[in-house]
Amino acid sequence: MAKKKYIISFPHLGNYYVPIYNLLNNTVDKNLCEIMIPKKMTLRTLEVGSKASPEHICSPFKYNMGNFIESLENGANVLIQAGGGCKYGYYAEVQKQILEDMGYNFTYIQLFSSQKLDINYIYNSFKMFNPKLTIIKLAYNFLLAFKILFILDKFEEYIRENMVYQINNIDFLKLHKDFLNELMEVKDINKLNILKKVYFKKMYNVKLVSQDIRDKYIKIGIVGELFSSMEPFSSMFIEKKLAEMNVKTKRYTTVTYLLFKKGFSQKKLLEESKNYINYQFGADGTESIAHSLELINMGYDGIIHIKPFGCTPEINAMPILQKISNDYNIPIMYITFDSQMSEEGFKTRLEAFYDMIKMNKEKKHLA
Ligand code: SF4
Repeated sequence: MAKKKYIISFPHLGNYYVPIYNLLNNTVDKNLCEIMIPKKMTLRTLEVGSKASPEHICSPFKYNMGNFIESLENGANVLIQAGGGCKYGYYAEVQKQILEDMGYNFTYIQLFSSQKLDINYIYNSFKMFNPKLTIIKLAYNFLLAFKILFILDKFEEYIRENMVYQINNIDFLKLHKDFLNELMEVKDINKLNILKKVYFKKMYNVKLVSQDIRDKYIKIGIVGELFSSMEPFSSMFIEKKLAEMNVKTKRYTTVTYLLFKKGFSQKKLLEESKNYINYQFGADGTESIAHSLELINMGYDGIIHIKPFGCTPEINAMPILQKISNDYNIPIMYITFDSQMSEEGFKTRLEAFYDMIKMNKEKKHLA
């Protein structure tokens, strides 16, 4: 079979490959293009990404580089990068330069430039992959992909918050896998709405333990940097590990939040945190403070603050979180994920944090 002209790939961020794949699948001409979902993240991804990246750059850059290199090694010749805020907004140019210096030949497309979607640029880029593409069809496909993103986030949020309560350990897992596969292939909004109805019904029907048992579970909120929050490999599957320890978790950061809610909630978050901060301090630092206070109000037993190596906005949030921890007498653990972190050491820290919270709870109960 003749080799396709364009082999398109993009970096991983949790399960967001689903709406990206759907958008590409419905948009490109299959006679011209092949869509390459990047290889699953492994230690090698981080290894090759780190080797090609500036040593002190924050880790998400290295993960993206690892995904790109592995895709290029597999034959990709078009790379798509989202772009966005913080240092992430400057990743694209630097990554492109490094990969070219490494000798790779590829077309590079950056969806968000200066944090804005440049519709003309995107349309012209996609026309390359489908000369018959109309702007209306592209707009529809984007709308469909955004709807999928929104539904996926809602679906995963429910599962995240309830997986620890399910009676049969594999119910959510199976449902989740099937739903993701269907979402990748869906072609129109009507079918998507039907799919949503079917899968949400199944999801709400998964049997959970009773409320009085749920009330006894330890609850830990997770705040911090966005990439570590949304890409489970980069945070060593912290949510899954805590669920296995019978801990209920909550986190706020999703792409839906970042794209559609964050901009409107900044004023409210600052107001809620006015005893601790007067100004926003970049990326998700403000959220880490405000959401920690929210978690405390909701009765959470502890908070874990996560960030990747090299993340400055979240370093700024840490002394304030420390003050919150003292004022409210709530344990907060700080974890910085880097390529040197050992799985065993990480697990031990989580277990120690869990034991401390459990002992605190028992003491309070006896007092
Ligand atoms: S928030 Fe932190 S990790 Fe993310 S781009 Fe900014 S500095 Fe890097």
